[in-house]
Amino acid sequence: MTEPVIALTQALIAEKSISPDDKQCQQILIDRLTKLGFTIEKMNFGRTKNFWAYHGQPSTTTLMFAGHTDVVPAGDESHWIYPPFSPTIDDQNRLYGRGAADMKSGVAAMICAAEDFIQQYPNHDGRVAFLITSDEEADASDGTIKVVDALIEQQQRVDYCIVGEPSSDQVLGDQIKNGRRGSLTANLVVHGIQGHVAYPNLADNPIHRFAPVLNELTHTVWDHGNQYFPQTTMQIANINGGTGAENVIPGDLKVQFNFRYSSELTDEMIKSRVTQILDKHQLNYTLNWRLSGKPFLTPKGTLTDAVVESIKELTNVDTHLSTTGGTSDGRFIAKMNCQVIEFGVLSQTIHKVNEHVNCQDVINLKAIYQRVLEKLLLNSD
Ligand SMILES: [Zn+2]
Repeated sequence: MTEPVIALTQALIAEKSISPDDKQCQQILIDRLTKLGFTIEKMNFGRTKNFWAYHGQPSTTTLMFAGHTDVVPAGDESHWIYPPFSPTIDDQNRLYGRGAADMKSGVAAMICAAEDFIQQYPNHDGRVAFLITSDEEADASDGTIKVVDALIEQQQRVDYCIVGEPSSDQVLGDQIKNGRRGSLTANLVVHGIQGHVAYPNLADNPIHRFAPVLNELTHTVWDHGNQYFPQTTMQIANINGGTGAENVIPGDLKVQFNFRYSSELTDEMIKSRVTQILDKHQLNYTLNWRLSGKPFLTPKGTLTDAVVESIKELTNVDTHLSTTGGTSDGRFIAKMNCQVIEFGVLSQTIHKVNEHVNCQDVINLKAIYQRVLEKLLLNSD
């Protein structure tokens, strides 16, 4: 007999839910949670489907699971061993399909963990909650960010949040994410005066103007990181200048650069230091910033301990806390002033052709989530 958590993962993979089109994924989850007696509130914005659900008394200790039902496109389907939206288990007990790892198995594991927990403790202390979105992989503008604002407005209490993103590296549970770096992009235009290369005295070359600034930006030590974060990095992503002609000094130079920054810095601090460098070199420029996410951090504490201990008890794996990788919806949830971590299956095949997950890992993940529920909610107030 197929384990319920594997059957649910398969049912979700069979829904071709490319962001933000949810197909029937959330309806499948809502049906399951309704049967369990959850209170469900759909929070759809634009074309994005989201819902928030809870079981237990409001204003008691709340553990919220967060996840997304959308997936990235499969690319050329002929490159897949099995069709990406026809979930298939091979003879190594690996389940293939788009979203198998990112993150339909994680969503299935949290739902099945809640089912078994509530069946065992129908009158449990505290509150089990879900925040599910169908727009994490695309621009994420109508998903978790808006639901979080609505929940803050409703003064919903959330103490702990587990985002079921694939956080593991080599074996299930070897790594959880207890924070993420911030991401800040600068779009800079350096203005000069266009002219003939033979008459440089009549022109002003923005590339020449920018050369020492480029040197200074790339050699600046922005910080030294801290216990949880590596040091802040800056990378030039795009640089464009020139008309294509060999005898024209360009009028403008466009430069785009991105910071991945630690909790030692704020976006305001970075902006002011960059502006100081530009002004010091007396550039004539226009500068626009785009902040995609502030850094967040959940220091070692109740939530990380409960997760690390549960992983150890059930799989005997030692866990490493990490803040590496790109941004995630954790950045929005951190606004609720709760402890938030990401913990899920291996990330090795996410967004790739032949994405897959080990079935035993999914079964173990569900058991670990259930153990965390017991540790954090039973005998809480
Ligand atoms: Zn994901």
